[in-house]
Amino acid sequence: METHDASSRKHLDIYADKAYNISRIRGGWLTVNRACNLRCGWCYQKDTEFDLERTMPLPLALDLASFFGDLGVKNLCLIGGEPTIYPHLLPVLEKLSVLDIRDIRSI
Ligand code: SF4
Repeated sequence: METHDASSRKHLDIYADKAYNISRIRGGWLTVNRACNLRCGWCYQKDTEFDLERTMPLPLALDLASFFGDLGVKNLCLIGGEPTIYPHLLPVLEKLSVLDIRDIRSI
């Protein structure tokens, strides 16, 4: 039979493993919108009908930027839709810069 201490230790080891794996995360993707000014035939967003209403609110985008910063993410890919027409792009880029996330791409 497992003692309470052995059981606690097992759980701590599981958390430590998860924390170790999380600490190795260096990159992330953030989908900021579904809108796009193009209509590529192969588009993976076609089913969203490029819905303008499905644009990420600025407070949520800033919270997620902070989350990526807390994880130690150093490179971030902004995707959509078309992220360059995201109406809150500049404040999000400023926040990422403050968090030292400076390797930013958009696809
Ligand atoms: S989201 Fe990308 S793939 Fe889709 S229409 Fe716009 S540019 Fe083309």
